[in-house]
Amino acid sequence: MLENFREQDKGVSTLLSMAKNGTLPHALLLSGPPGTGKTEAALTLAQILNCRDLPATPDLPFDTLASHRCGTCRSCRKIEAGTHPDIRVIEPDGHYIKIAQIRDLCNTLLAKPLEASHRIILIKEAGRMNREAANALLKVLEEPPAGTFFCLMTHQPSELLPTVLSRCQLVRFRPLTLETIARCLSQESSLSPQDAEAVATLSDGTLTHAQKILSGKGGIDGWVIQRNWLFSALPLPGRGDVSQALAFAEVLGRDKETALEALSLIEHYLHDLMMCKIDPARVGNPDLMPQIEADAARFALPRLTAMAETVQDTLQRIEGNTVLRHTIEVMALTLMQG
Ligand SMILES: [Zn+2]
Repeated sequence: MLENFREQDKGVSTLLSMAKNGTLPHALLLSGPPGTGKTEAALTLAQILNCRDLPATPDLPFDTLASHRCGTCRSCRKIEAGTHPDIRVIEPDGHYIKIAQIRDLCNTLLAKPLEASHRIILIKEAGRMNREAANALLKVLEEPPAGTFFCLMTHQPSELLPTVLSRCQLVRFRPLTLETIARCLSQESSLSPQDAEAVATLSDGTLTHAQKILSGKGGIDGWVIQRNWLFSALPLPGRGDVSQALAFAEVLGRDKETALEALSLIEHYLHDLMMCKIDPARVGNPDLMPQIEADAARFALPRLTAMAETVQDTLQRIEGNTVLRHTIEVMALTLMQG
């Protein structure tokens, strides 16, 4: 289990002491990159709080959440299987968590929990709630029904409304070290230790990202070729002309899935250009450092922020089912003008 990783010792011990001391707040925000164990930790916490056969406090070299629930009682098994009626997981439907999903949740919360002493609502990628959804959630966060606890998760707390943030107690999950990611990859696939290390370097400190790289068409080599093309052909001021920008848009605009994946990589690249100026150790594509340094030097931070907003806005439009090709053309031309 990811939550057993030493990187998360601090977060795990915070959660554990809340569960043991009865000091769990009504809303938690687990913050950390994807694939660092947030969901596993939240589900295990739900098991501990509802376990019917709690084990005696184990004496282990380091504490794991999993060692504090039995794992075999009816409640633990239902949570493990994802069939517990009082443990709800909300996640983006497409790119966003929509108002209908939160309304549906609120309706469920009108009734008392069916079985659990602690009803737990997990909201994955909480930063992807649109404003309406976030405002609807805020109402229940302000007056949470008895016995109900919310566990929001995000990699970017700044994406949440400040009013939602202020209702939550923050618990941080740290990026995994390259060694941990490489170790997991070689355990779960037939990768050689050298290849596992190479993929780990490209993974942005998250196992989910590493697994995505490996599962794509052409495996790691195909992914690297595609990413390198995307970053070097990305229309930026002073790079290429209008016809090249439109050709770029044509490739990305072929289908929705390709477009969403490419745009999320572009978001990462622009983030790397910003990080290169602020904290170079946090650049997620360190193998491309010379190109990142050269591009970062050409633009001031506010300009990079505006470019990242253009990409985020485009992601939102594509999700809203606007005409795909046209939307990406507009983005390519806007980026090119900086
Ligand atoms: Zn149990």
